[in-house]
Amino acid sequence: MKIAFIGLGNMGGGMAANLVKAGHEVNAFDLADEALHSAAEHGCTTFDDAGAACQGVDAVVTMLPSGAIVKSVYEGSVFGHAPAGAVLIDCSTIDVATAREVISNAEAAGYDMVDAPVSGGIAAANGGTLTFMVGGTEKAFNRAKEVLDPMGKAVIHAGDAGAGQTAKICNNMLLAVTMIGTGEALKMADKLGLDPQKFFEISSQSTGYCWPLNDYTPLPGVGKQSPADNDYKGGFAAALMRKDLRLAMQAAQNVGAVTPLGKHAAEIYEEFAEESGGLDFSAVIKTL
Ligand code: NAD
Repeated sequence: MKIAFIGLGNMGGGMAANLVKAGHEVNAFDLADEALHSAAEHGCTTFDDAGAACQGVDAVVTMLPSGAIVKSVYEGSVFGHAPAGAVLIDCSTIDVATAREVISNAEAAGYDMVDAPVSGGIAAANGGTLTFMVGGTEKAFNRAKEVLDPMGKAVIHAGDAGAGQTAKICNNMLLAVTMIGTGEALKMADKLGLDPQKFFEISSQSTGYCWPLNDYTPLPGVGKQSPADNDYKGGFAAALMRKDLRLAMQAAQNVGAVTPLGKHAAEIYEEFAEESGGLDFSAVIKTL
């Protein structure tokens, strides 16, 4: 297939490279020269205009920072530039309302389109092991899946347009809550005189089992290797968690969902991200 890829940053760069590895022809566009150079090194054909990159393609994939940028890229450079009948796939994490609006406009212009945000960070993007949560019609999902498969370990149809973004923000709200809870429990065990490693050994096999404790332990030297063992560098930046929690709180407000712990986690990350200096989100344990 011929695929346009727009947004070749930390995540998009590796994802586009995996499409090339799978044998696709990839037209790449990004506003940053550095991203374009790297894409060229990975076998993409680079363009200095997003609309030109979309000419004659079978699919368009976007991996961009925000809903406003996604909307402006699709409306300004994809609709009317990609051939009618191309499948459009937005992998960015954005708000549910904008995702639905852009998909509805795409359908009106004759395209199949899905929202397909990801779980997994830069390592998963580079390694082709992302999980895609996809919102859109059955037909659009099946077409998008063929494009997404080489970039992920799982491609899951979440439901109608916007369902991918819904799954993503609910998942990350849960992740924030469990990360803070894990940090609290590890620190409290320590203060009560229980070796955190011993607590890990017990709770990771008990009802305290959860991903932040078992697979991403936020204390150095405890549990599996994680960003905590690398001075909290790498991984999933606290600022990105703050972004996802802002989206979650906005969505909760829109539908009147009651999320007291999500709200508290959002407040904690709002403050922590400001001072985190780019550290992984598990470094929130330092504030406890
Ligand atoms: P990034 O800032 O590294 O990359 C974004 C890229 O988009 C940049 O290269 C930027 O130049 C480009 N860009 C911005 N505006 C553009 C425009 N109008 N046209 C073309 N290119 C434009 O961000 P990232 O970490 O790659 O994240 C991308 C998306 O993936 C975000 O929505 C983020 O929330 C989501 N995400 C990130 C991670 C992660 O661990 N980094 C994990 C899951 C999801």
